[in-house]
Amino acid sequence: MIRHNRGLMILALGFAASALAAAPRAPNILFIFSDDHAYQAISAYGEGRRLLETPHLDRLAKSGMRFDRALVPNSICGPSRAVVLTGKYNHLNGFVNNSNSRFDGSQITFPKILRQAGYQAAVIGKWHLVSDPTGFDFWQILPGQGIYYNPPMIRMGEQVKTQGYTTDIITDLSLEWLRQRDKSRPFLLMAQHKAPHREWAPALRHLGADGDRVYPEPDTLFDDYANRGIAVRDQDMSLEKTFTDRDAKFDPPPNMTPEQRKVWEAYYEPRNARFRAANLQGKDLVRWRYQRYMHDYTGTVRAVDEGVGRLLDYLDKEGLAENTIVVYSSDQGFFLGEHGWFDKRWIFEQSLRTPLLVRWPGVSRAGGVSKDLVSTLDFAQTFLDAAGLPAPVEMQGRSLRPILAGNRPADWRTAFYYQYFEWPTPHRVRPHYGIVTDRYKLVHFFGTAEDYWELYDSEKDPRELRNVLGDPAYAAARKHLEEQLVQLRRELKVPAVIPPEWLGRAGGGANKAPKKKQAKQP
Ligand code: CA
Repeated sequence: MIRHNRGLMILALGFAASALAAAPRAPNILFIFSDDHAYQAISAYGEGRRLLETPHLDRLAKSGMRFDRALVPNSICGPSRAVVLTGKYNHLNGFVNNSNSRFDGSQITFPKILRQAGYQAAVIGKWHLVSDPTGFDFWQILPGQGIYYNPPMIRMGEQVKTQGYTTDIITDLSLEWLRQRDKSRPFLLMAQHKAPHREWAPALRHLGADGDRVYPEPDTLFDDYANRGIAVRDQDMSLEKTFTDRDAKFDPPPNMTPEQRKVWEAYYEPRNARFRAANLQGKDLVRWRYQRYMHDYTGTVRAVDEGVGRLLDYLDKEGLAENTIVVYSSDQGFFLGEHGWFDKRWIFEQSLRTPLLVRWPGVSRAGGVSKDLVSTLDFAQTFLDAAGLPAPVEMQGRSLRPILAGNRPADWRTAFYYQYFEWPTPHRVRPHYGIVTDRYKLVHFFGTAEDYWELYDSEKDPRELRNVLGDPAYAAARKHLEEQLVQLRRELKVPAVIPPEWLGRAGGGANKAPKKKQAKQP
């Protein structure tokens, strides 16, 4: 790998002058990427129930564009990250699930191309692709999933110890790297948070930051899963059945110092004692869990938001804001109690849709809002476009530049392909793929004994509670969607038969990665 990097460096030196000459003042790129951040937990999205204020993310939204339908091709951590790096779907980049995939670091990624053209590139924080990063001048990552306190990290192949709260450490390291960079060249910094991933452990300073408020419940908290198939009924991601003692903070997060633990317990212990005394059952227990979940989840988002503020302040102070593209996004969305769930994986909206805020000076309009179907798949080509570099033909997205500039191309996508494979652990979400349009979702659940289709109409049923596949009123819409789906699968080179090993642990077999010292929770 060292030899590989050295090779890239020589390439970088060789190409730097000519490639960047084609794009004078190539913009810097600050890519802030979080893990499992639901758009519902960003106040700039300002929709539905108000869960918290995120002043710094809102500041980014106000000075750039907010995307209201940014969709992920596969709603889990590793696969989503592989899509971002390669600009390709998982059936082509090879990282199909979190169970037995390993990222092939020899393939082309957008950071490699930028670096060959003279950019300095760094990735700091969550990586989660099993193999080590390639194509970066600097990397310091969490092993696997990472932990929330005093996280061990790997810096350029060497294990290092850190002390503090992980979100703050990732921001600190990002600022440190920015300060020491070569100021004569443009940079790409990928600052990637573990937060707000499960088990949602907030920073000590944010314990009780909500003043014990009561969070508004989603109106599907007690979804009975009627009118839908076995996949929805048989999942294992509910507040009712799946929520663990660690999720509930009866077990503290791992690796805290005694001092940290003392502050932690001073907040949780009295509240836990009141909970035990109340002996809640049934719906009351679910309601209590939802409140605890929201305190903790929004608590972790607060530190992410503060980190965004610190990075934006640095750009302002250093006079870099004018020539730096800032992107905030997450590897997917997340259920915050909708359908009684936490987690992601589904083609359903809270999981499929991820937050996306983009400020591209000179291109994006301040305060712009886009409802176009865009995707994390588009990031690679957007960044290459920004640098004035051509994208490899095998990339499957499209630069967001015209959308950001308010000139949506007439042939922009009106249908989006989604796929998910990991079955049955950890959350019993059946493999599925489908097509998503402005109005409809047509889904095929496959790979188990129950092979069937569903159709959802978001105009009449925005909460996605009713499968209308058998309703004759939808026959024409269904036929049209089926035709579009066939065409999309052909264009995207989706294999007709999914190899069994793609279905995670159920498949077993090929592509056995070295046993992960890594994540338990994908
Ligand atoms: Ca994730």
